[in-house]
Amino acid sequence: MLRIVLPIFATVFVLSLGTLHYFNNFYANKAMQNDAEQLLYQFHDALLEAHQILAELPNPTEFQCNESTRKQLSKYSFESPAIRLLGVMHGKEQQCASESMHIDLDHYQQRIMGGDIHNIKSDYYLASAGLGDKGDDLLMIRSHDDSRYFVSLDPFMVNHLVEFACVDCLAYDFVIAGEPELLFRGQDIVGESHIEYRSARQEGIFDVNLHLRGTKEFYNYYQELSMVTTIIFALIVASLIALLSYRLLAIRQSMERVMLDALKFSEFVPFYQPIVDSRNGELVGAEVLVRWKRKDGSIVPPYQFVPYAEDSGLIIEITEQLIDKVVKDLMQFGWNNTNKFASVNIVPEHLESKRFFNYLCKCCKLNGLPPKNISLEITERLQIDDLAVAGKTLEAFYDLGMSLKLDDAGTGYGGFSYIQELGVSTLKIDKMFVDTINSTDVKHSVLGSIISFAQSSDLGTIAEGVEDESQVEYLKEQGVYLIQGYVYAKPMSANDLMTWMKVHNSG
Ligand code: C2E
Ligand code: CA
Ligand code: CA
Repeated sequence: MLRIVLPIFATVFVLSLGTLHYFNNFYANKAMQNDAEQLLYQFHDALLEAHQILAELPNPTEFQCNESTRKQLSKYSFESPAIRLLGVMHGKEQQCASESMHIDLDHYQQRIMGGDIHNIKSDYYLASAGLGDKGDDLLMIRSHDDSRYFVSLDPFMVNHLVEFACVDCLAYDFVIAGEPELLFRGQDIVGESHIEYRSARQEGIFDVNLHLRGTKEFYNYYQELSMVTTIIFALIVASLIALLSYRLLAIRQSMERVMLDALKFSEFVPFYQPIVDSRNGELVGAEVLVRWKRKDGSIVPPYQFVPYAEDSGLIIEITEQLIDKVVKDLMQFGWNNTNKFASVNIVPEHLESKRFFNYLCKCCKLNGLPPKNISLEITERLQIDDLAVAGKTLEAFYDLGMSLKLDDAGTGYGGFSYIQELGVSTLKIDKMFVDTINSTDVKHSVLGSIISFAQSSDLGTIAEGVEDESQVEYLKEQGVYLIQGYVYAKPMSANDLMTWMKVHNSG
């Protein structure tokens, strides 16, 4: 079992590691981009705000610096977190600033003139000047003759990003488009750049682009899971899945043991469901449906074990056990002298070799039953890998006078090719379509198509799952006479069928 569980563990581990890593990066990128986007918006809004404040102020030549006007400047600066300093300057003589402490506006003037200046419109300018290690300082100016207002913008927007993440791990440039372009720079990045993000906001009078770069350290800040946590998570997921597969395998193995026991004690028995000709009520044959009769007498229905039996290949031996009993039952029913048939469900595996054919021949011979009293039913739902091989095996059955019915016609994928390549003689119309009689279900049209296809292709039809007389009548009108369904009888044991035949005069 370890040979199966270990590779499952390894595969799930690698897959979950990859998936977690992918999502971790995906969400880190998303979060980082969201923050950067917000940063860009804050910066853009700060520019607009500064511009608006400057526009509200009177012409700088008319500005009188006194206690009340200084208060007004302080109020603007106080109310707007983006603004660090607001000042006005008339030539060299008069200076006034939002902060009461002495500010050397002259120094500003020099810096501005020495830096890059960007003309926004008529008398409005943006200027950026380096602050050495601390990045750039951004000023907005409203100028008139020899008088100017200055607004110094605080590059606060970036602080919160850098603060939480790491020191010296983020670099950013805001590029304000126009003639000439103006670059507003944050501090330089230290170490190798790992993330890079570009975004643009073009609205109003400022057209701003953001270029953000961060180191691996900064990127890690955005990752929800560290590498160690990712590995631990992947280990937990892989262990859980491996444990689950171990449990499932154990259940499967014990199921296999129980079914092998059931085979040994011959617990698989055939039930028979009559197939009746609705024109005269006569029994024409029966479908063989397996039941598992446990030691305590309880009956297990096929849906509880047939899928597993088909999966594991045990269905081959189960069918052989059935055939053995069916052949004896048919002799007891006296069908050997009639045209009545027992239809046995087979799976594609039965047609891959001659094993089933040989077994069936041997049973018939041993009991004196003509093979033509047995017919085969194969479902359209299961895929046949090699139609040529299956067709060849079937030839041998046909040579004995046996025939093949296509079960669940219209529900699977093999339909047309099975009919063409396998020599199907009869279509079994599934209950799913019979149920649409007297209803407005869209599948009703499929029922019509199956019937007309069968008739035009000279195929016989048997309607399955027919539960009431009105369905029988409808099918009769459509030319479908052979009926298998609760309307006539449910599947029953061989003994019960003998009684049923007596009561219905079909012996
Ligand atoms: P299936 O081959 O399509 O068999 C018809 C199923 O429809 C049977 O269920 C039958 O009891 C049920 N049925 C027939 N008439 C009516 C009706 O009027 N109303 C309702 N509600 N049901 C009806 P069952 O016996 O439970 O078998 C279920 C499935 O198990 C079969 O479907 C077949 O796919 C599989 N199966 C049964 N026996 C064998 C077997 O020996 N070998 C293989 N490979 N599969 C088998
Ligand atoms: Ca069937
Ligand atoms: Ca069916």
